[in-house]
Amino acid sequence: MNDMKFISFASNYYQYPIGKVISAALPVQLKKGFPLISYIDQLSLTNHGKACSTSNLKKSAPKQAELLEILKIKVRLNEKDLNNLSPNWRRYYKGLIEKKLVKKDRVINNYRVNQKYIRPSSGPDLNSEQANAVNTIINEKKFKTFLIDGVTGSGKTEVYLHLIKNTLKNDKQCLILVPEIGLTSQFINRIIKRIGLIPHQFHSSCTENEKFITWKAIRDSKAEIVLGTRSAIFSPFKNLGIIIVDEENDVSYKQQEGFRYSARDLAIIKAKHCNIPVILGSATPSIESINQCKKNIYTKLQLTERAGEAKLPSMHLIDINKNKTKDGISDLLLKTMNEHLKKNGQILVFVNRRGYAPTLICKSCNHIEKCKRCDSRMTVYQSKNSLICHHCGSKEKLKTSCHVCGSEYIALGQGTQRIESALNKHFSSEWIMRIDSDSTKLKDSLDKALEAAKSGTAKILIGTQMLSKGHHFSSLTLVAIINADQGLFSNDFRGSERLAQSITQVAGRAGRENKKGQVLIQTEYPDHPFWETLFKGGYKNAIRLILEERKQTGWPPYSYIALLRTESHQKKFTWEFLKKSKLILSSNNSTIDILGPVSAPMEKKAGKYRGQLLLQSNNRKILNHCISSFIQEIESKKITRRVKWSLDIDPIELF
Ligand code: ADP
Ligand code: ZN
Ligand code: ZN
Repeated sequence: MNDMKFISFASNYYQYPIGKVISAALPVQLKKGFPLISYIDQLSLTNHGKACSTSNLKKSAPKQAELLEILKIKVRLNEKDLNNLSPNWRRYYKGLIEKKLVKKDRVINNYRVNQKYIRPSSGPDLNSEQANAVNTIINEKKFKTFLIDGVTGSGKTEVYLHLIKNTLKNDKQCLILVPEIGLTSQFINRIIKRIGLIPHQFHSSCTENEKFITWKAIRDSKAEIVLGTRSAIFSPFKNLGIIIVDEENDVSYKQQEGFRYSARDLAIIKAKHCNIPVILGSATPSIESINQCKKNIYTKLQLTERAGEAKLPSMHLIDINKNKTKDGISDLLLKTMNEHLKKNGQILVFVNRRGYAPTLICKSCNHIEKCKRCDSRMTVYQSKNSLICHHCGSKEKLKTSCHVCGSEYIALGQGTQRIESALNKHFSSEWIMRIDSDSTKLKDSLDKALEAAKSGTAKILIGTQMLSKGHHFSSLTLVAIINADQGLFSNDFRGSERLAQSITQVAGRAGRENKKGQVLIQTEYPDHPFWETLFKGGYKNAIRLILEERKQTGWPPYSYIALLRTESHQKKFTWEFLKKSKLILSSNNSTIDILGPVSAPMEKKAGKYRGQLLLQSNNRKILNHCISSFIQEIESKKITRRVKWSLDIDPIELF
């Protein structure tokens, strides 16, 4: 019943049809009608079998005797165990049945129950801030939202492990959400080591069958610890004791298509329904969560220092107007990299774009190669000799000369692959490893790459945001940020919050153990006030100012917003739909603000014209009410059939 209440809340809040929400919440196998209970074969000894000795049988039927002996130890074994202990059992058991020594039954398949794996180790003694966080949460037995605001490497995971242990002690289940699959294996290893149990996993690398089995184990309270990405929030727990949302500010918690829910926000609702504590953790908490703490709706628990001996890294800018760059890398950066390598430190070079270069431009007329289906530039992939659009996947052959004036084309800007080939020239004897979504397409390739990165054998890591958060690289001492500047001039109101988060997170990979870390940021705008804010007062200071700005401009968290997105192959339909929508919305309610219609920041994408209306209100209930009556009305209009439209409640990106 609780699950239905939760699903109906989600449907109502995100204005998404309940049937589709239920469908999103259920495993594919269940929807296909696979039975919830599955059966397997089991062999067991009859009384006759128990009494009989195997010595006579050994001569006449040695294989049967072998199987009988195995059964004499265990009395009954299911087919899974038999497959392990006596792989050819199916060939020999019939003889035992004929002799009435053994019987075969179909029994309910009791799927894998967590078993003790290794003897758990005790881990470090908590420092006083960690101990305070653990005790405060443990003493709160009812619903409450906690924000663990702990600098990178402050031992948040250590706190989670204590909370998990305590929850298990009370015979309750734990749900842990992480933003990306890449972060699961590190977490799982720590749980196994400390708790001694193998957690159940629920994310997109699991097969549908695995997901179904986990889903059943959760429902039957057999899964004690569940670690998953956002969709795990819909798992049917019956005995949940705690929810932990790690890296709570991460955009991956928000589904960006179809049912556009936020798993972080739903985690709080779920905890409320179950009347249990929910823990949000981050080194860079979202502005929403910080604001909830200010209003005393969430309880903030701070970890202000790095755990153990580790210290936070020092941060410096490299002015690339004064320090000339080649292939995007300045001499000063190269020199510093050499120093760190000499001291056997590992280096992370952060580049937030994949491919070779983001732009192909003509040397003389400045013509830029654009995607034919989108308002976007084609990314250069030199190794594949091609141009690829990151927005629609269109692919073309790489061109060498401009089709307007015939002059030479040049690749402008840096992607991970360009940095990789440049560094290969400078550091030919080092193992340089690039980790981005192009290099980790194959199954398990990400885990393997991360292993090499964590062991410290790969000395120079080049990565996108995939590498920037959550990971613990023990020998990493230098973080270099190649091109942060585009974040300085974002036109999204969340731009500066995101930039502060990504810089703080990636910087937080440096110096996490006993060697001190250093962070170098290349910029063309060293005087931009953002840097001073971040360097002088850190993330907290940046957020304080951003919150102030939001208050003045009325953006969330000082208002609630929803985005009506529309697309169509014909521009006029997009606009007609948006105008009609505005008319309906404004006649229904005059207290919400309607901004637009405007075309989306990238108006044309994959051949479709996109536009949007932004709805804003100080009152969530009024906004929700207004949207649901709008949906009822717009669905009957003729124009609605000509466009594709969607509503995004609490959008995190305005495109
Ligand atoms: P976070 O999750 O905040 O990034 P971790 O829990 O991964 O931090 O801790 C960072 C490092 O510090 C890990 O190597 C961890 O084992 C160690 N650590 C955590 N807590 C303590 C402590 N109280 N004493 C010593 N080392 C600690
Ligand atoms: Zn040209
Ligand atoms: Zn495209």
